[in-house]
Amino acid sequence: MPEGDTIFRAARTLQRALAGKPVTAFESVFPKLTRVHEDTPVTGRLVDSVAAAGKHLLMTFSGGLVLRTHMRMNGSWHIYRPGESWQRGRRDMRIVIATADFVAVAFNITVAEWLEQRTLGRHEELKRLGPDLLSEDFDPVEATARLKARPDVEAADVLLNQRVMAGIGNVYKSEVLFACGVNPFTPVRGLTDEQVGCLIATARRFLRANVTEGLAAMTTYTGFRRTTRRDAPGERLWVYGRAGEPCRKCATPLKLAPQGRDARLTYWCPSCQR
Ligand SMILES: [Zn+2]
Repeated sequence: MPEGDTIFRAARTLQRALAGKPVTAFESVFPKLTRVHEDTPVTGRLVDSVAAAGKHLLMTFSGGLVLRTHMRMNGSWHIYRPGESWQRGRRDMRIVIATADFVAVAFNITVAEWLEQRTLGRHEELKRLGPDLLSEDFDPVEATARLKARPDVEAADVLLNQRVMAGIGNVYKSEVLFACGVNPFTPVRGLTDEQVGCLIATARRFLRANVTEGLAAMTTYTGFRRTTRRDAPGERLWVYGRAGEPCRKCATPLKLAPQGRDARLTYWCPSCQR
């Protein structure tokens, strides 16, 4: 599942390519999207803005029409020049939004709907989102309160809960817990204030570091990159994807276990995260 920083970067790329430009073509395999397009055409409207809200991507068009998409597990947005061949097959195409200069294509997105800008604040899913870790006005006090309101939930699961904080996915979950030395299976009630503070601050730091220019996607560990300049996933992260490999701090073999209702994989060091 894409993490908050992936959506944030996608939104920023789309914003740069499309914002202020009139839509020249709109296409979708979703009947509920094309129905609105037939009644109130998207073609001819200006792309006002593209923004991330947690893991939701909100594309606003002139006239107050907003396209909400969510990438879920396999969705992605690509940007192409007109005529450029796509990296995915046409059967994976869900939405196409074209301007004179760019073609934005959503592949394998399962969640897409039109919203009205004036009622956005009342949208059930958006309304429930916790403080957005990538937002300039992120509120750590609110995030702390929401986290502590779930005393029985295990630390790893509470980090994934978008109603607590918006933006953390499965990779950062393991990385943040390791960085703070927190065992993933500790219930929230067993966390010290210092640990809670560390989890929130570290999540924000990792996500923000990964939306700066020039950094490979999802980097929390840069030790190897500094020396080898290699960029394989296993060389960019502390624990995620490294089960059985030695911990970068203490050399203990890292562990892996499914966790929570959705059996999401958790990686951790049994020595550093007791
Ligand atoms: Zn360790």
